[in-house]
Amino acid sequence: VDVKNVTKKYGDIVALDGFNMEVQKGEIYGLLGPNGSGKTTTLNCILALLKCDEGKIKLFDEEMTPARYDLKARVGYVPQDISVFKDLRVYENIDFFCGLYIKDKMLRKKYVEEAIEFVGLQDFRKMYPKKLSGGLRRRLNLACGIVHKPELLIFDEPTVAVDPQSRNSILEGIRKLNEDGATVIYTSHYMEEIEALCDRVFILDLGEEVAYGTKEEVKKLVGHTQTVVLTLDRIPNGFEEALKASENGVQHVLLKEETLELTVDQTIFSMMKLIGFVEQEQLVIKSLSIKETTLEEAFLQLTGKTLRD
Ligand code: ATP
Repeated sequence: VDVKNVTKKYGDIVALDGFNMEVQKGEIYGLLGPNGSGKTTTLNCILALLKCDEGKIKLFDEEMTPARYDLKARVGYVPQDISVFKDLRVYENIDFFCGLYIKDKMLRKKYVEEAIEFVGLQDFRKMYPKKLSGGLRRRLNLACGIVHKPELLIFDEPTVAVDPQSRNSILEGIRKLNEDGATVIYTSHYMEEIEALCDRVFILDLGEEVAYGTKEEVKKLVGHTQTVVLTLDRIPNGFEEALKASENGVQHVLLKEETLELTVDQTIFSMMKLIGFVEQEQLVIKSLSIKETTLEEAFLQLTGKTLRD
């Protein structure tokens, strides 16, 4: 997928502003951004469901336009909103979507059976969507998007409002599809999912690129930071400010109940100095550990906001 200089406006709102993105064959690519950052607009432009005002989009090295049904047949799209027919049963829904692309009857039947099994809806094949729980409806939505075994799969926040069990099965399913050869674009504002699933990430904010690369590359962009997790017997008034003023590379201090999380600049920080500082205040260290910067912290530092703002 090759997105070059794409601009998309809705009236005065600039949803994408000279946007570039490239997805390689065989990877799981995470598109990450807070609400309203332009993720769905990007996907709709890639699929030529929306016409961009400027720029070019190529799929499989060919220019994507609304009439390129040959290219569309090679793509599976699982939209954010459940998009199934309420008057068709589970089996009929999946069969309908499969039939749009697969004309051979035997093959179509085989693919539908495989999709039903893949999402674990064997016991629900005759049910209408409204009888299914939210999580099962999501699985049906997924089955309809993947049933024709496309080379490129696009998921727009497929785990929003699903129970943890369905969520895990959806994520495992996506991993399996990728192992079987599909290229995946996955959007989410759940950082843990992106971190667990994706090879490379693209961080989007207000329709513009904030950062992209492998997870490690993105983390490096925020500098050489680490998080020191410190639990003390008590936390005196003003202690957080004193830590920041200690000239020990402490950039942020986050108080989580009894525990302090210090974001420190590795190039300056000294653990001995921190221990000395704590002892000088006559405090007792109950535990002390270091954790590496997560993608969530990198995002916070790059955009100044959390994904769920
Ligand atoms: P979310 O996570 O909430 O789905 P998103 O990252 O997918 O958000 P988009 O839905 O692409 O973001 O929206 C990008 C911007 O464009 C937002 O400011 C949004 O309000 C605006 N927008 C999206 N669709 C339309 C539309 N049909 N008409 C007007 N503005 C729109």
